[in-house]
Amino acid sequence: MKKTDVYIWCCGMLLFSFVLQSCSREEAMPENQNHQFPAEQKTKNKQANEYFSKPEPVTFSLSERFQNEALVAEPCETTDFGIVLSGYFESIMNDPVFDFDLLNYYLELNRKYVTFYMGDNYYGENGEYNQLAAKRIRELEKFWNIDRDIYLNGQHTSLLNDREILADMIESFDRTVRNRTEAYQKADLLLELNETSSNFPENPYFAFDGFTRSSGLLVIGDGLLQSIIETGIDGDLAFTAILSHEWWHQAQFEYAESWDFSDQLAGPAEFSRYSELEADYAAAYYLTHKRGATFNWKRIEEYFKLSFNVGDCLTESMDHHGTPTQRLLAAQLGYELADTAHKKGAILEPSQVHYAFLEDYYDIIK
Ligand SMILES: [Zn+2]
Repeated sequence: MKKTDVYIWCCGMLLFSFVLQSCSREEAMPENQNHQFPAEQKTKNKQANEYFSKPEPVTFSLSERFQNEALVAEPCETTDFGIVLSGYFESIMNDPVFDFDLLNYYLELNRKYVTFYMGDNYYGENGEYNQLAAKRIRELEKFWNIDRDIYLNGQHTSLLNDREILADMIESFDRTVRNRTEAYQKADLLLELNETSSNFPENPYFAFDGFTRSSGLLVIGDGLLQSIIETGIDGDLAFTAILSHEWWHQAQFEYAESWDFSDQLAGPAEFSRYSELEADYAAAYYLTHKRGATFNWKRIEEYFKLSFNVGDCLTESMDHHGTPTQRLLAAQLGYELADTAHKKGAILEPSQVHYAFLEDYYDIIK
């Protein structure tokens, strides 16, 4: 029987549902669907507004969101992050080759590729986070000492512009393609389309994933990092913060049985909120710990404030992931836990951090 993988989507996948920065659990990957090759000829010069006059596609809530003026006018749309994201979307939708099918096709190819890819990696568009990643991974391994193979795949928009890789993606994940030759044919058509576009696939949104998987995989997309940097947050901090949040989800996978916290929670939604708040708590603990990443609270507070604003902005009815206040409070308490340990410099075991969090949990969510 196939082993069930659990995914926690922290970003990207959920952006279309506008629940960014609120991870979500999902059992296994949805089966590959038959991808219809984008009808690029037909839609090449289609304007975004023409799209909106068409019936809504079932799989996207993006259109709904943009059609709903009340939502667009939400005050949180004006946060720095909201502005950056809106800019990405606008740019994509105004692109001459814009097409929802093509958009979805690229997002899925790149997501599945980083999900199943095993091999050499680089982080950041030009590998600018390679050294940092190596350092942080070493630190986190030592810091939490979780007994499992954890590995990080970088996601890049350029993967969708590389003939060999694109053909790999198509051959592996597009069921309408039967062999390598057909994969090349499709890849070449897409590359031609890419030539005429400044968004497909260069827009940061095509590498916007941040998720974790029970297999030990972590994914951080360049686009996700870039969007955070564009709001004025330091890239090294953003990278480290996302990585350490995701890392804690691995601790949750590892200790799932012995911690057994799911029994104490009302249901999947509550479990999700609980897991996210704990990941924020533990990330803040590591980020500020003297033997961890040694950021001071002021510095990481900016990051948490930013990501939570976005979370709030995009989660309207999904508050089970934790409100901004709850998430900031969780992070702050994680910081305080590290701060009290500074004198001794000890690093608590994952289970100790877990139980410390448990003690605070009901205060955080009240
Ligand atoms: Zn998460």
